[in-house]
Amino acid sequence: KETLDKGLEKTKDSFFSKLGRAVVGKSTVDEEVLDEVENVLISSDVGVETTVKIIRRIEERVARDKYMGTDELDRILREEIAGLLSDSNTSDVADDFELPANKKPYVIMVVGVNGVGKTTTIGKLAAQFHKRGKKVVLGAGDTFRAAAVDQLKLWGDRVGVPVISHGMNTDPSAVAFDAVKKAVDMEADVVIIDTAGRLHTKVNLMNELTKIKRVMQKVTPEAPHEVLLVLDGSTGQNAFIQATEFTKATEVSALAITKLDGTAKGGVVIGISDQFKIPVKYIGVGERIDDLQTFNKMEFVDSFFK
Ligand code: GDP
Repeated sequence: KETLDKGLEKTKDSFFSKLGRAVVGKSTVDEEVLDEVENVLISSDVGVETTVKIIRRIEERVARDKYMGTDELDRILREEIAGLLSDSNTSDVADDFELPANKKPYVIMVVGVNGVGKTTTIGKLAAQFHKRGKKVVLGAGDTFRAAAVDQLKLWGDRVGVPVISHGMNTDPSAVAFDAVKKAVDMEADVVIIDTAGRLHTKVNLMNELTKIKRVMQKVTPEAPHEVLLVLDGSTGQNAFIQATEFTKATEVSALAITKLDGTAKGGVVIGISDQFKIPVKYIGVGERIDDLQTFNKMEFVDSFFK
């Protein structure tokens, strides 16, 4: 909780002080206050669609109750935002880096464009699972960037888990196959597979991800159990665009939103979760190995308000 508060400091400070300014000298939530609240949400990168939805719900409550004091605004905003972060946000996998016991090895395919923090997130995840006594295998499926393979190997060494990699420009689905195979052979609990994030060729992206899936299914038919899309939370609208592209290319089942420590625009988590109806499973709040957290919606919403 402390790291979360710290990680979201910029968003919190900005959101909270702006909200305070929106109601200064006002005792009731009127149209003027709502306009200000709308601005605050937009400037936190909640996104227009989700912002409009939140404002409309508050308007409905004001209309129904005839009156809303500005002292109630925090509580009501909190309720409305939590309502948008649906319960599925806790996902079928229990909090705190648990893995489902009946899916072994649990196969996570990680997608996202370069630079969003994909490799770092895989390294941090490996570290968390490893720390909990789980056997982890990593697959260096981003075979288009030498740096990505090297970096993943570094993480593997650092955490102490095997990394399956082939040469540069080799077929990523072969890496995925070998990684899942290795995980089965060594009775690993989880295998995390990196993929190349090149968005400029959409058809290729779709074909490539489909092929990786198909090939790993030769080893474990229900793989991947999770397709984790990594988005950089500090890139605002770009994160929305990437989510649109990747959900078109493959069935994304969970989100990891990184770099929330470096931005005042943590509202992107709310907007993306609402618009894509995909649970946010992890948030990145720093560069250190422990700076990845499982997402808890009440904790997250609370950290915005105090
Ligand atoms: P990739 O190209 O998507 O694999 O991105 P990398 O994992 O190489 O990360 C790109 C940069 O973002 C690196 O300098 C990371 O240390 C940094 N990074 C990743 N996650 C976070 C985060 O949650 N917070 C901060 N501040 N930096 C991060």
